[in-house]
Amino acid sequence: MTETAATPDLHLRRRLRLQGVLEFQTGWRIGSGSEGETMSDLGIVLDPDGLPLLPGSSLKGKLRNTCEALAHALRLEACLLNSRASGKDCVSDVRLFSQLRPQHQKAVRDGVAAQLRWIDEHTCDVCKLFGSPVRAARLRLGDGRLENPETVVVRVRDGVVLDRDSHTAVNGLKYDYEVAPAGTRFGFRFDLENPTEADLALLGAALFEWLDGSSLGGFTSRGLGRFQLRDNAVHLSEIDFDDDAQRVRYLTGTKPDQRWSDVADWKAFFQTAIRNTLARTN
Ligand SMILES: [Zn+2]
Repeated sequence: MTETAATPDLHLRRRLRLQGVLEFQTGWRIGSGSEGETMSDLGIVLDPDGLPLLPGSSLKGKLRNTCEALAHALRLEACLLNSRASGKDCVSDVRLFSQLRPQHQKAVRDGVAAQLRWIDEHTCDVCKLFGSPVRAARLRLGDGRLENPETVVVRVRDGVVLDRDSHTAVNGLKYDYEVAPAGTRFGFRFDLENPTEADLALLGAALFEWLDGSSLGGFTSRGLGRFQLRDNAVHLSEIDFDDDAQRVRYLTGTKPDQRWSDVADWKAFFQTAIRNTLARTN
């Protein structure tokens, strides 16, 4: 790679926006780490209006886990933030980064382009998409937006304390925990900057997995947190800043539909990226 090859990463060339809706098929909970508003022992995260919240950090964590699980099938690398356990050398693992520090310092002395290239060459595919302590994420996402607040009532369930060894209930020891109901729907939005084909393959494969259903949050081993991506609610749009007409429209447009170009068939778009990635990595 030449010195100038890494430089374009500093510029915004293309941006992709994906909007979708997740629906929980079962009760679910994202724990607040403290007592609940209902005085239950284990509360859930609520927004200022007292409604259940799907934090962007939880959504991003779930998406990252899904991509990590699928990376091998796409012949892409996922370090799991632990190079020793995963066998993938990625400097997001701070221990590996400190071992390679002299190399990194040499790249820093050689200039910004050399530094970016060095980090790129020493980061796994999942960390390139989601970011890590050494590099910014290409993917951004915020908190989920509750779509059906009128139907969402937080309930309290009873649990019993189990003996760790015998897995039997400990006499007299009970607790209760808050659960948000099945049917809760959240709108979400991902923004992706300068995506590579590998980024799109990871993201597309994860979204297809979510169409099939997955689980999110706490107590999933007890059947909580099952969700699906709603098939008919996905909307994909993009902007190519290297295209003069699109760039002008984006910069001067004052409404989202004036600024973005729709991608009509989001599934075909991601399937192409997955097939191209497999053709390259197989
Ligand atoms: Zn990594």
